Amino acid sequence: MKIDNLETKNKTMTSSTPLIQVKNLKKYFSVGGHDLKAVDTLNLDIYPGETVGLVGESGCGKSTAGRTIIRLYEPTDGEVFYNGKNIFSYNDKEMTRMRRDIQMIFQDPYASLNPRMTVQELIGEPLAIHQIARGKKRRERIEELLKLVGLNPEHISRFPHEFSGGQRQRIGIARALALNPKFIVCDEPISALDVSIQAQVVNLLKELQQEMGLTYLFIAHDLSMVKYISDRILVMYLGNMMELSESGQLYDNPLHPYTKALLSAVPIPDPNLQRERIVLQGDVPSPINPPSGCVFRTRCTHAMDICAKLKPEWIEVEKGHYTACHLY
Ligand code: SF4
Repeated sequence: MKIDNLETKNKTMTSSTPLIQVKNLKKYFSVGGHDLKAVDTLNLDIYPGETVGLVGESGCGKSTAGRTIIRLYEPTDGEVFYNGKNIFSYNDKEMTRMRRDIQMIFQDPYASLNPRMTVQELIGEPLAIHQIARGKKRRERIEELLKLVGLNPEHISRFPHEFSGGQRQRIGIARALALNPKFIVCDEPISALDVSIQAQVVNLLKELQQEMGLTYLFIAHDLSMVKYISDRILVMYLGNMMELSESGQLYDNPLHPYTKALLSAVPIPDPNLQRERIVLQGDVPSPINPPSGCVFRTRCTHAMDICAKLKPEWIEVEKGHYTACHLY
């Protein structure tokens, strides 16, 4: 599988003002009178032109985090700053403006596209909602978007079922790009695709980022493909931040036992460089009743007495490399 342009760009070094600032974000759902702590304190700055990978197993809160950051969910607590203002205090006019700038690409192109709508209607819908371009101009814009994502503009009248999975995800990407956004939450955009197609979609997202100056939050459940698109990676577990660093640093020198376990599952093409496989025992505990202290302790082979008593602090172990673990 070929991935173009693998060098990791550390854009955080070149831009000092974040596009998105997430501060102490929490999102709890009420389930049977109990709090399900899907996101339990998230702090993150995302810089213009950067891709931050957000990684964790299913049920770790990463999709909820992505959706709360763009206010598809109202938060339980915390703030998200965009253009210097907390989006949870935006009025209707500011929200409409924000919806143009901030978009989402969904995991499942089969489910996220209305099967009864043509490609023209699907990509034209956001333009219609925001009253941008009409008639011939709208059609030209849709054809331009189809070309941009590598689809044939002559297929504008086709329905989603007439496309392959990878092509359908391209339609989803074109729809997300229709309003010229600045920030896109990519919610597991390649998880439902064949491995052979995943690299194509990742390359397309990288090319579009360079052409359009896009900023991404790229959500994934494993670390195998995230390296190739992310400048930095945040690892989450049970709604909590486990580790954050520049992506090369995370792969070369993972600190947190959870990151090490996730990385050990990633195949390395060089047989001389194999990592020791760490198999995580059991499932992610229920976020309704998370373990005391370190939430990872029930599956951690390094767990100590203190891990049950005290939640580890978020500390910077080396420049730009943070983790929450009592081993540091
Ligand atoms: Fe393991 Fe303790 Fe570190 Fe948690 S704090 S990851 S239980 S060593």
